[in-house]
Amino acid sequence: MKTTIVTGGAGFIGTNFVHHLMRTSDERVVVFDKLTYAGCRENLAEFEGDPRFEFVVGDVSDRKALDALLARTMPRRVVHFAAESHVDRSIDGPGAFVETNVRGSFELLEATRAHLAARPELADSFRLLQVSTDEVFGSLGPQGAFDEDSPYRPNSPYAASKAAADHFARAYHVTFGLPVIVTHCSNNYGPYQFPEKLIPLMLLNALEGRELPVYGDGRQVRDWLHVEDHCRGLVLALERGEPGRCYAFGGGEELENRHLVETLCSLLDERRPASTNDALVCGSYAELVRHVADRPGHDRRYAIDAGRAKDELGWSPSVSFAEGLAATIEWYLERLDWCARITEERYRRERLGLADGG
Ligand code: NAD
Repeated sequence: MKTTIVTGGAGFIGTNFVHHLMRTSDERVVVFDKLTYAGCRENLAEFEGDPRFEFVVGDVSDRKALDALLARTMPRRVVHFAAESHVDRSIDGPGAFVETNVRGSFELLEATRAHLAARPELADSFRLLQVSTDEVFGSLGPQGAFDEDSPYRPNSPYAASKAAADHFARAYHVTFGLPVIVTHCSNNYGPYQFPEKLIPLMLLNALEGRELPVYGDGRQVRDWLHVEDHCRGLVLALERGEPGRCYAFGGGEELENRHLVETLCSLLDERRPASTNDALVCGSYAELVRHVADRPGHDRRYAIDAGRAKDELGWSPSVSFAEGLAATIEWYLERLDWCARITEERYRRERLGLADGG
C-alpha cells in the first residue's frame, strides 16, 4: 500500500490533511505526533481501527524513533507539519521552537537521508514536504506580495525557527539530492484550529462575554486561506511539484485584523444574537473589542503571490473567505465541547507573548 507519513497530524492543519487524504485517496496514512498541548488524537478517532490508518506517538527530535518509523512503514512521502506554531508562545519560550522546528526538522532530514541512502531505488519517487509559512519572509509594506523568491527576513522566534528548517531543507536537496519540496502558506483558518489562534479565540471569548483583545491598532493585514485549500495545494505539490522547488499558497483575501474581528462579531450576532446570550450585558459582540498592547515585533502585512502554484501545480483557492468564515463559525458553534476538552488544563485564553512578561 502507498504510504504517507504525516508528522504533526494531530494538530490543526495536520488533522485536516489526514481527513483530506483519507477521504480523497487510497493512501495509507501514518500519523507521527508528540501530542503536545496543540495535538488532539480525538480529531482522528474515526480512523482508529482502519487498516489504512495508524497513529504513532513520537517526537520528531527523536532520531531513533524516526529511523524505526521509516524502516517499518516504508513511506513514499513524508509531509512535515510537526511544529511549535504559535508566535506568542515563541516570544515567551523560544527554546521549544528551536528544539522542535529546527532540531526536529533537521533530525527528520537526516533520518530520511539515511533511509534513502540505504534504499536508493526509492529516491526518485520519494518526497519530503516541509510545510512552511509566509512569516519567514517578514513584513510587507502597503504594496506588493511575497513569492518564492522573496528574501528571508523572519521577525519572530517562530518565523526564525521555520526559516532555519527551510534552509536545512534546501541545503539537503542541493548537497545530498534529497527530494525535498518546501511550501509557504499564508494564514490558515477552518475546523480544528487550537483556540489560541485569532479566529477561534475571538469566537469563544465573544460567546462567553469576555474581552476581544485586538493587538495594537488592529490594522495588521493577513491573507487568509481556508485550510482545505491549503491541503489540496499540498497534495498537488507532492504530485506535481519538482524536488528542490518552493511553492507559495495564499487565499488572496487580505483583511485587517480589526475588520476580521468585526466581521466575526456580526456573523455571531446573526447566529447567536447577543440579546439571547445570558453571558452578555451588551447588545452586540463588537462591544467586547478592546485594543491591547501590540505583540512585540508584530509583522504589519502579509500577502502571497500564488502565481507559481497556479501555473505549475494547477492550484487555486476555491473557498471564499466569506463562505469559509461562516462555515468555520458553524463548526465551532457545534463543537464547543471539543473546544472545552482541547483547552482543559492547557490554556485559559490568557494573554501570551508580551516580551516584558506582562
Ligand atoms: P498546530 O500547533 O495546530 O499543530 C502542531 C502539531 O505538531 C500538534 O499536533 C503537535 O502535537 C505536533 N508536534 C509539536 N511538536 C512536535 C514534536 N516535537 N514531534 C512531533 N509532533 C509534534 O500547528 P498548525 O497550525 O497545524 O501548523 C502545522 C504546520 O503548518 C506548522 O509547521 C506551521 O509552521 C505550518 N503553517 C501553519 C500555518 C497556519 O496558519 N496555522 C500557516 C502556514 C504554515
